[in-house]
Amino acid sequence: MHYTETQTAIINRFKKPHISNLDKIPESEIPYWICSCGKILPSKNMTCPDCSATSPRPMCPLDTLDVPTTIEATLITCPLCNEFIHPGNGSHDVTVRSRVTGYLADVTNFNAGKLDELKNRQKNDF
Ligand SMILES: [Zn+2]
Ligand SMILES: [Zn+2]
Repeated sequence: MHYTETQTAIINRFKKPHISNLDKIPESEIPYWICSCGKILPSKNMTCPDCSATSPRPMCPLDTLDVPTTIEATLITCPLCNEFIHPGNGSHDVTVRSRVTGYLADVTNFNAGKLDELKNRQKNDF
């Protein structure tokens, strides 16, 4: 999906925030900041050396810079930021996949929670 700059701006202004407690954590206790391009920065008050963007978002203090390489069956979320995390090393840099049963169903009968879950699903190409 490609959005125009105007569309992207309004998405960023009004998209639903994650259920997260990160905004309650003092900036001095945030070890790293993440640019919109994905670059990890040591300070909030930095211009990204890769894309020149400013105002990086806080990286969860419970996240780790170690990228996990194993496949795990356990699904757990971070108690601070509610993102999915690796059960082994706590890395937030994980991909979560769900097995889908092989039939088609009309989603108009889905309740609000299930519909929201469907909308929030990550789409992947294999
Ligand atoms: Zn950047
Ligand atoms: Zn977290």
